[in-house]
Amino acid sequence: MQQPPIETDYLVIGAGAAGLAFADALLAETADAHITIVDRHGKPGGHWNDAYSFVTLHQPSAFYGVNSLALGSGHKDTIGLNRGLYELASGAEVSGYFDRVMQQRLLPSGRVRYHPLCNALGAGGFESLLSGARTQVHVRRKTVIARFKDMAAAAMANLPRLVERASV
Ligand SMILES: Cc1cc2nc3c(=O)[nH]c(=O)nc-3n(C[C@H](O)[C@H](O)[C@H](O)COP(=O)(O)OP(=O)(O)OC[C@H]3O[C@@H](n4cnc5c(N)ncnc54)[C@H](O)[C@@H]3O)c2cc1C
Repeated sequence: MQQPPIETDYLVIGAGAAGLAFADALLAETADAHITIVDRHGKPGGHWNDAYSFVTLHQPSAFYGVNSLALGSGHKDTIGLNRGLYELASGAEVSGYFDRVMQQRLLPSGRVRYHPLCNALGAGGFESLLSGARTQVHVRRKTVIARFKDMAAAAMANLPRLVERASV
């Protein structure tokens, strides 16, 4: 089934830390850019949706996340291996945080459209994992690939590949 085509300025593939941070910064730096985010997961946060239950950040919460919303409360742990040091968010906290970024920052801007449970197909198309319906996106500015594996490979090989020109 083919859905009606949609238009956007930036198509972001991946609603993990990278895709959300990009969208958050773009909202702050531009007055009217429209962003469409597509992700296979049902919730924002990327691989944190799949992380094992006891995972925590390896760095203080305060240094992680998007610019417009702080993660954590800035307290120092008083027990455990991290005693005396700034808190390390648990996986559940990180997942909840990225959900708040989407629900309290990105979507209320009115400039972000989010398509969870959708697989990006290339050439600006995506497919719903629930219904199989396909949507073509007309990208006015850029397609931004924010998939962790591609980013790692691109960072090692050729950074400009991270942001590809939209094939309009
Ligand atoms: C246990 C653990 C602890 C970590 N701790 C830290 C830490 O303390 N500090 C730190 O800086 N980093 C940490 N990291 C690194 C972590 O990988 C990054 O912080 C960050 O979460 C990666 O985000 P990302 O957006 O690059 O990728 P991901 O989280 O992998 O998001 C990519 C998204 O792209 C989506 N996607 C891919 N292909 C498609 C497609 N074709 N169509 C639609 N969607 C697609 C995926 O579904 C996924 O949701 C940790 C990682 C792990 C595993």
